[in-house]
Amino acid sequence: MSRIRVAVIGAGPAGLCAARHLAADSAHFEFQVFEQAGEVGGTWCYTEFTETDEYGVPIHSSMYRNLKTNIPKEIMPFPDFPFHETETSFVHHTEVLKYLKGYAEHRDLYKHIRLRTVVNKVTPVPVDGGRTSWSVSIQDLETKKREELEFDAVMVCNGHYCAPYIPEIEGIDEFRGSIQHSKAYRSPEAFRNLRVVVLGAASSGADIGMELSEVAGEVYISHNLPEPLLYLPSNVKQVPGIKSASREGFTFHDDSTAEADALIYCTGYRFEFPFLTPECKVRTEGRRVMPLYKHLIHTELPSICFVGLPFKVLPFPLFHFQIQYFMRTLDGSIKLPSKEEMDEEADRDFQKRLALDMPPSCAHEMGSLQWDYFAELADCIGLKRLPPVVRMVYDFVADRRKEDLVHYKTESYTVLDHGHFENKHVSP
Ligand code: FAD
Repeated sequence: MSRIRVAVIGAGPAGLCAARHLAADSAHFEFQVFEQAGEVGGTWCYTEFTETDEYGVPIHSSMYRNLKTNIPKEIMPFPDFPFHETETSFVHHTEVLKYLKGYAEHRDLYKHIRLRTVVNKVTPVPVDGGRTSWSVSIQDLETKKREELEFDAVMVCNGHYCAPYIPEIEGIDEFRGSIQHSKAYRSPEAFRNLRVVVLGAASSGADIGMELSEVAGEVYISHNLPEPLLYLPSNVKQVPGIKSASREGFTFHDDSTAEADALIYCTGYRFEFPFLTPECKVRTEGRRVMPLYKHLIHTELPSICFVGLPFKVLPFPLFHFQIQYFMRTLDGSIKLPSKEEMDEEADRDFQKRLALDMPPSCAHEMGSLQWDYFAELADCIGLKRLPPVVRMVYDFVADRRKEDLVHYKTESYTVLDHGHFENKHVSP
């Protein structure tokens, strides 16, 4: 039987993970990875640039200069490739890039990756027997040469923290301070002594708010979280969401006001697939990508998958399970249900979230749902589940973050052989 030809779009952690597993099964698969950047690592390739690179490609990375992971390195990595030794658990972004490059080298993946090669267009092509093949148009950014290639399957690993989501704010055009999204934030120096409103208090909002507090005059973290952030520095105030803007500043939903010199949107990202043609029949409704089975596989065209859509998860283990699950559907080891059954299951999953009081924008949010999701994928394909201690550490860190946002990253974790863990304070 001929091998299944797979195109992988992107060589960030998800694309590398895809390459690692496809390469390990060369009896069934041949593949190429296309990466528009000059190196592997995706968003972990930090750059001072914020607009476009030397080839005119929009900057992909959303990392800021001082970023440390918000997941300890003991539970963050791919289950089959531990993190290297580091002094702390919450490591600087440069360590993550080092880890990813080590993974690529260890698995000899570079030979499968075409760097500086952008995927411009992906379209399904019906072939005999009701099957679909995929036409993938690429361009080598150095030579400008374009090619159209044919594959049997596509893994979309283009990353989901790249296209900023900017909510509408009444009167924002009036505001005469500076405005930017966290995607373009690199370091706090530019905000010295300024009054800064940070809109959003998820990972980036809280993190950026904390590092701004060291140099800014006042920081207002504007959010609608059900619980306040605790023990914040004295120049950080919490205010509700923004109701409207004026020349001088902002009015919040409790009608309090603040004069401000700058606004940073830490409002997250949109899912974006600019290379998909309408024939791909992928639609994005708010934060829900459809029609997808198990947040992954197109129900009508099941030879394309979208890796890494779920958020509030352990991303690297997520990729590990999703990619191997998809591969087993491609090689026929597991048989997918009918399109109708897959659509029904996807709808049940969505309704379950609504019943848990999650808003429609949380269609792919996981949080505590991730453990069952991982276990289900693992069991379907006979993979080892994540050990329970991973969840124990994850939940413990989430609690520590709630209790002490300022210091939780100064603690270090050790996973012990008998399935428990220790944490200790390591640096001020
Ligand atoms: P990305 O890393 O975004 O990689 C996607 C790749 O696809 C990029 O290299 C891009 O150039 C390429 N690409 C896109 N479009 C094309 C195209 N058309 N043609 C060719 N190539 C293309 N995760 C953690 O586990 N721990 C953390 O502490 C953590 N902190 C984070 C902090 C920030 C600020 C952000 C933004 C994310 C953080 N994440 C964290 C999540 C992070 O997104 C994942 O760790 C991981 O990088 C996602 O991998 P990915 O491969 O899906 O996407």
